[in-house]
Amino acid sequence: MKAVGLHPDVVVVTSRFWQTTCTLVRSGEEAFCIDSPVLPDELEILPSIAEQARFRVVGLLLTHADFDHVLGRYAFPDAPLGIGEPTDRRLQAEPGRVQKVLRDFDEEWYIERPGPLTMPEPQVLPVPGRCGIGDQELELHPAPGHTADGMAIWIPWARVLVCGDYLSPVEIPWLSESGSREDYLETLDRLEPLVEQAEHVVPGHGTPLDPVRAAAILREDREYLQGLPDSKLPLARRTGAQKKIHAENVERVGS
Ligand SMILES: [Zn+2]
Repeated sequence: MKAVGLHPDVVVVTSRFWQTTCTLVRSGEEAFCIDSPVLPDELEILPSIAEQARFRVVGLLLTHADFDHVLGRYAFPDAPLGIGEPTDRRLQAEPGRVQKVLRDFDEEWYIERPGPLTMPEPQVLPVPGRCGIGDQELELHPAPGHTADGMAIWIPWARVLVCGDYLSPVEIPWLSESGSREDYLETLDRLEPLVEQAEHVVPGHGTPLDPVRAAAILREDREYLQGLPDSKLPLARRTGAQKKIHAENVERVGS
């Protein structure tokens, strides 16, 4: 697992699995953990990484409720959970789903965890909206399209955009089961001005980006989505795994 400091108040760790990112953000005495790494040893070491950087984690936030992003409770079992309204709707509509997907994943890869994933009663946050941390505020922006429940988080004092599963250097736009091409394109429009103001962009999967690279990926992704079902995969992301996602996307826009 890689850990990089983007700002005195922002540390990003990247999981060895799927390069899923987890962002620690701090204001004064309070820090939040946004999303999570995937593997048990990474989750186990996360509290010491936070402690060493003097981040006192008092809450968990999720960009969306896919299983690979929601594992922060394993690292910070007592921290309350904050989620956007759309994520709350999704979790209510599919009770136990995220735990089931995690169990299947762990079985497939022979991964052992200390116990089942517990999800506390969340604090539900309006999106768009703001969320107080220390003496500052995070901005919450709607980001549906990959799933129905995405939320992007803008950290104004650090000018860091944590966008969830968008603008990834390793994954093409993925219209998952609850996703939508129209929503995805609107989300890209909404993210564009934030990318322009950003110092760093943290995608849900892959290394943190400078704004120029993030803007280039945004343009590629827009072009890719607009061209579906006939579009070519972006050059740097033309792998076997991405071809499978592409096949899913083609099916999604055709149905
Ligand atoms: Zn993801």
